[in-house]
Formats: sequence, structure tokens, C-alpha cells
Amino acid sequence: MNELSNSLAAADIAHQLHPYTNARAHEEKGPMIITRGDGIRVYDSTGKEYIEGMAGLWSVAVGFSEDRLAKAAYDQMLKLPYYHTFAHKSTEPSIRLAEKLAEMTPEHLTRCFFTNSGSEANDTIVKMVWFMNNALGRPEKKKFIARHKGYHGITVASGSLTGLGGNHRDFDLPAIPVTHLTTPHFWREGAEGETEADFTARLLKEIEDTILAEGPETIAAFIGEPVIGAGGVFVPPEGYWPGVAALCKKYDMLLIADEVINGFGRLGTPFGSQRYDFEPDIMTLSKQISSSYMPLAAIMLTDAVYDVIADNTAKLGSFGHGFTGSGHPVACAVGLENLKIIEEKDLMGNAARMEAPFQEGLRKLLDHPLVGEVRGVGLIAGIEFADKTTKVNYAPAGSVAAKAAALCTEEGLIARNVYETLALCPPLIVTEEDVAEILARLGRALDRLSDWAKDEGLI
Ligand code: PMP
Repeated sequence: MNELSNSLAAADIAHQLHPYTNARAHEEKGPMIITRGDGIRVYDSTGKEYIEGMAGLWSVAVGFSEDRLAKAAYDQMLKLPYYHTFAHKSTEPSIRLAEKLAEMTPEHLTRCFFTNSGSEANDTIVKMVWFMNNALGRPEKKKFIARHKGYHGITVASGSLTGLGGNHRDFDLPAIPVTHLTTPHFWREGAEGETEADFTARLLKEIEDTILAEGPETIAAFIGEPVIGAGGVFVPPEGYWPGVAALCKKYDMLLIADEVINGFGRLGTPFGSQRYDFEPDIMTLSKQISSSYMPLAAIMLTDAVYDVIADNTAKLGSFGHGFTGSGHPVACAVGLENLKIIEEKDLMGNAARMEAPFQEGLRKLLDHPLVGEVRGVGLIAGIEFADKTTKVNYAPAGSVAAKAAALCTEEGLIARNVYETLALCPPLIVTEEDVAEILARLGRALDRLSDWAKDEGLI
């Protein structure tokens, strides 16, 4: 470590409380300080190079050195660094981006509301749904259905929708009425002898039974990620989403697709709801919307949802909700340029083309003694560590995935351990050579993992 790294590390330990970090362990270990980026690669303060196999936090579609985004931010900062969108004010970047999103998303999604983060977007959606049902004179229709292991953020309402114990425990969540149902993960949740079709039917029955038990007049909406991301990468079974959509229609519930990770080509289709063939009433977008160069999220609404909200704002005199940064002109200018790059470079098409080499390469890891399942579509994947026959994860919980991620880091590949799974979600700009290099580094890390597991007596 050089002198600058040491002094930065000391200051980090002295002054930052890090998200999703064991603070006491951090005081011992110190930070890994990332200082610069280049394409799919980032470099730490010691000069070590890594392939960013997670695109940051599932988000940097265009890679870490896109000059056009820097220029878009700079130009907008010089012209108008900030203005808001409250009370009839607007700015060109927010208008152009809203228009672009209406054009890119499925045709029935026409209206857009901007926030700074995915969590704020989902919190806003909860409030919109409540606002709507109050306006429609059905104030009892307020409950949500979500899934275990779904991830929708960490603010009070979005954190309640998230179905992960660590986001609830000691935070007094859930704080809104929400029921979490079975994760749509056939390999883990499928019963002995059950086919995938039976599994889908069982999950749909569970949803319908829940609606009937609670009373359809009390259930406002179903929210889910088409492919679950941060909870461990779970690909839904065949027929699940069209079935969910049919139930939402039957019981007059809104269907919310949280496409914060899936959106803008991650699954090899523009949006995840298109890959799984359903039409949400509301869609949450963030991350790849700006490649995370600026904080930005958007909520897409149908005309039908918009009209109920708009009518009520006319009655009340205003929509009493919005962020200082809603439609921030710099974030929107960067987002707009980022989406142009995604289109011009056909990065969504690239994700579709890279699916086969990436996913097929990863499936070869099923031979590895510690790997229970390899799953994923497009350019998102999870490798779950478990005994192949019993499917039991290794003790202590999460330890093998954590070791795998640490060994990947040593081998120059940033991957992320989420519970028992090692996740990969590379930038959409990856080439076939990049995919081969990711697989090579991962392969070396997992070879070392086997040696470690033997020493630990796990295998
Ligand atoms: N929804 C999904 C599907 C996400 O993956 C995330 C972030 N991982 C969020 C919402 C929350 O977004 P943010 O971290 O920007 O609040």
C-alpha cells in the first residue's frame, strides 16, 4: 500500500459508516479504494486491475469510462446545473428523458415520475397506489403482495416490500401491510416429484389463496422483479408471470414490475416484463437508466393509473409528493445520453448475443464439487453453493459464497456474494473475449475454492 492509500484508509475507517458492511470488521480490514475505471475494468489504490463482473451494483451498462456521459453532465452543469420540476416548472433534460422513456418502454407505459433512487421510486409507488385507491373511494384496498428474497430497496415502504430478513430485522420493518410469498425458484422451492408446471400452479394458487383469505377488496397490488436480482438471482418458472398478471386482472390489483436491475437489456430483452410476457401497470426503473453515473430512477405509469392520480390532484389542488432532485437536469441529461449510447451501440442486442457464451460457460461450473445450481438469463447469473444431492448449503451460512467472492477479487474479478450465491452481472458492453476472461478468472478462483474447502473439511 502506498502512503495515499494508507491515509485514505485511515480516514475512511475514522469517518465513514458503510452501507451493507460490518462496521467493526471494516475497522480491522479497511476499505478497498477504487480510484479509476476503464471500460469493464476498475483499478484500486494500489494499482491492481479488476474486471467489474457486477457492473458496480448491477448498474453500469456502458462501462466505467464513457466520455460522452462526462460531457453531457459538464454541458448541462454549465447551462443549468439545477432546477426543479415542482409546481409547473420543468427543464429540457427531464422532458426529453420522460419522452424517451415513454418511447423505449412498452407502449402502454406513457407517463413518468422521476426520483433519485430505486428505493425512493418504490416508496413513491406505494404512496401512489394508496393515493389512487383513496381517490377511487376504496380506502381499505391498501395491501401489497411481494415475494421472499425480492429486493425493492431499503427506505421504510420499499424496505417493507423487500423480502429479506436482514433488511427487516432490528429496523422494525415491515411497516406497511405486505405479505411475502414463496420465491419463484424451482430448484430450491419445488417439492419432491413436482414438475415446473406444477410448481408454477402451486405458486399461483398460493397468491390466489392469499388474496381470498385477506379479501380482494384489501389487496392493492403485486410487486416483483421479473428476475429477482439482489436477493440471489432467481429466474421464474415457465408461466409464472402471465399467471400473476391474470390474477391481478381478476382481483383488480395493480401489477408493479420492479425493473431496476432487469431494465434496459439486462435480460437480453429491453425490459424483463417483455422476456416473461406480461404487461405491468407500473414499472420501476433505475441503475442502467444512467449507468449509475448519476443517481436517477423513474416510475412509468399507464394512462389509466395516471388519470386517477391526475384527477385527484385536480380535486386536491396538488400532488403532495416529490423530491428536490425529481427530474434533476444533470441526472436526466446523463440518463438521456446513456440511453442513446445503449441504443447506438446496440447494447441490448449485445446482451442477447452474449447470453449463450456467458450462461453456457457458467453452466460448466455445475461440475464443481461445491456448486449446487447455476442459474440466470441474459447477462445476470448466480452460482449457488450447496450439496448437489441434498441441496443443503454449507455451514456457516454464506461462508462459501463469501470465500468465493474474496478469491475472485484476488484473481482480478469483482463478483458479489449474496447469501449462498455468487452473483455476476457484467456491464452490457462485454465482448466474447471479455466473457472468456471473466470465466477464466472465475475458474481459477473456484479451483482455489475447492482447495480451501478440502482444507476446511467441507468436501
Ligand atoms: N429495486 C431493485 C430491483 C433493486 O435491485 C434495487 C437496488 N439494488 C432497488 C430497488 C433499490 O434501489 P436503490 O439502491 O437505488 O435505492
